[in-house]
Amino acid sequence: MLETDQIKKRRKILIVDDQEINCDILGSILEGNYSLAFAHNGQEAIDYIRQNSNSISLVMLDLIMPVMSGFEVLQIMKQDEDMENIPVIVLTSEKEAELKALKIGAADFITKPFDMYEVILARVERVVELCEGRELIMAAEHDKLTMLYTRNFFFEYVERLYENHPEAHFDAVVINVDQFHSINAVNGRDFGDKVLHTIGSIIRTFLSETKGIGGRFETDSFNIYCEHSEDYDLLLKDFQKQIDDVFPSASIHIRMGVMLWQEGLNPMAMFDHAKTACGKVRGNYSTSLMVFNEEMRQREIMDRMLLNGLKSAVEDNQLVVHYQPKYDIQSNPPRLVSAEALIRWKHPELGFISPVAFIPLFEGNGLISTIDNFVWNKAANQLAKWKEEFGITLSISVNVSRYDIFSINLVEKLQEIVEKCKLSCEDIKLEITESAYSEEADKLFGIIDELKDLGFVIEMDDFGSGYSSLNMLSDMPVDVLKMDMKFIRNIEISETDRRLVALIIDIAKHLNLTVVAEGVENQGQLEILKNAGCDIVQGYYFSRPVSAEEFEELIKREISTERE
Ligand code: C2E
Ligand code: CA
Ligand code: CA
Repeated sequence: MLETDQIKKRRKILIVDDQEINCDILGSILEGNYSLAFAHNGQEAIDYIRQNSNSISLVMLDLIMPVMSGFEVLQIMKQDEDMENIPVIVLTSEKEAELKALKIGAADFITKPFDMYEVILARVERVVELCEGRELIMAAEHDKLTMLYTRNFFFEYVERLYENHPEAHFDAVVINVDQFHSINAVNGRDFGDKVLHTIGSIIRTFLSETKGIGGRFETDSFNIYCEHSEDYDLLLKDFQKQIDDVFPSASIHIRMGVMLWQEGLNPMAMFDHAKTACGKVRGNYSTSLMVFNEEMRQREIMDRMLLNGLKSAVEDNQLVVHYQPKYDIQSNPPRLVSAEALIRWKHPELGFISPVAFIPLFEGNGLISTIDNFVWNKAANQLAKWKEEFGITLSISVNVSRYDIFSINLVEKLQEIVEKCKLSCEDIKLEITESAYSEEADKLFGIIDELKDLGFVIEMDDFGSGYSSLNMLSDMPVDVLKMDMKFIRNIEISETDRRLVALIIDIAKHLNLTVVAEGVENQGQLEILKNAGCDIVQGYYFSRPVSAEEFEELIKREISTERE
C-alpha cells in the first residue's frame, strides 16, 4: 500500500525512443525517482501524452524515429493548449539537431550514447523543477478558465506598463456578459464556463495582435488595457460576432465600457470610469457600448457628494418631507382623503435636489433604508399631530422601496412606528413600486401578506410602467392600484390611452381594488377619470407636493368647505 502511494506521488516521465536499449538505460537511471512510461515512436508518444497530459511531468524525446519523428512530436505539442506546457528533453546524437530542437521549444537536450548518469539525472531534475515553479507562478497569475491575468497581477502589470511607458497611450476597456447569472442558471455552469473561456480566447487573440494586457475577475468582468483606438464600436461588433459564431443559438450578449486615454489619469481611475460606463449600458437596449464622458464624470462627483452627505443630511435637518394631497373625486366636491409623503433634500452646496437624483443611488447601495425610515417616522408623527389638532380622518402613503422589503425587519419597524405615534395600521398606506413585484415574488408576497393582516394598506405604485400584466393582478396581494402617470398624460388626446385606462379601472374594480390616478394636471383629465370610475386622484391639478405648513392650509380649507 505504502509503495503504491509512493509511486503515485512520484512524477511521471514519458521516455520516447525506438531503440529498446536506450529505453532500458534511461529507465534504469530514472526509475528510482520517477514513475515511467514508454513509447517507441512519435505517434504512440502523442497518443499517450494526449490522454495523460495532466499527469506527465516530462517527456524525453528521441528525434529520429519511425512513423513520426521527434521534431513532429514537438511541433504538435507546442500547438496544443493542453500539451504545450509539458517540458521536453531531446535525446540526440547529432549536434545540429540540438539547436533545431531547442529552437522549436525543447527545454534541454541529452546526448547519446548516454554516459555520466549523474548528469542525466541532475538535468532531468532541474527541468522538472523549473517547469513546476513556472507553472505555480502561471497558476497564481492567471485565471485558469481564460488564461487572462487575475485581478492583482492584472493591475500590477498595468501599473508597470503605465510607469515604464509614460509616452504610450492606452485605453481601459471593461466587458461584461449580459445576464451572465441567468446564462449559468439556465444552461448550467459548464456552459457558462465555456462562454467565459471563449471570451477569454477572443481577448487573447486580440491581445496577440495589439499591445496590451487582459484580465478577468468578478466572474464575468473582462478588463483590457490596450493601445488607444478611436473605434470601439468596431471592436465590440467583432467580439460579438466571434461569440455568435461559437454560440449561434444561445444569444450571448456582451456590453463594453471604455475610458479613453487621458493625460495624467492613472490606470486604476481609468478602469473605475470604464466600469461606470459599462454599468450604464446595463438595461440600455439601443447600445452595448458606452464611452465614459463628461456627463458621467459630473454624475460621479455628484453621487460622491450625495453619498458622503447623507449622514449629515439626516443630522442637520437637510431632509424634509413634503406632502401631496390625494382627493376622492367621486364625492362632490372632491374630498381630501390622503397624502403621499415625498422626500426633499436641501443640500448646503448643491441646493435643492429632486429625489429622482438620489433615490436610485441610495437604492443601489441600501442606504435607501436610512431615508425611508426617516420619512416613515416623520410622516407618522405629522399625521398624528394633524389628527389630534384638526380631528380629521386622513391617511398617509409612504414609499417602500424593494430594498426595504428584503433587507430589514420591515414589519416590526412599521408596527413600532405606528404604536409610538398612537396611530392604527390603517392610517399608513405603503406604496410599493410595481417593478418590486417582479423578483422573488414568493418572499415578497409573504411579507406583504403579513403587513396586510396587520391592517396596513398596500398600494401598487407605478402600475403599468413595468412588468406585471393585468392578468397577474388577481394573484397579487394589493389593495390599491396606482396607475402610472404615463397613462394619464395623453388621456385627452389619445383614444388608446383613454380605453386602456378604462380597462385598467374595470379590471381593478372587478378585483375590488381602489384605483388612484397620479400626475393629473388639469380639469379635462380629471373629468375623464371620474367618468371612468377612478376613485382617487393625485396631481398638480389639486396641488404640488408642499411643506407640512402649506399642507395645513389645505386641511383648513377642507374643513371649512365641509362646514358649508
Ligand atoms: P412616485 O412615488 O411615483 O411619486 C410621484 C412623483 O410624481 C413625485 O415626484 C411627484 O412630485 C410627481 N408628481 C405628482 N403629481 C404630478 C403631476 O401632476 N405631474 C407631474 N409631472 N408630476 C407629478 P418626486 O417627489 O420628484 O418623486 C419622484 C420619485 O422619487 C417618486 O415617484 C418615488 O419613486 C421616489 N421617492 C420620493 N420620495 C421617496 C421616499 O421617501 N422614499 C422612496 N423610497 N422613494 C421616494
Ligand atoms: Ca409613490
Ligand atoms: Ca408613482
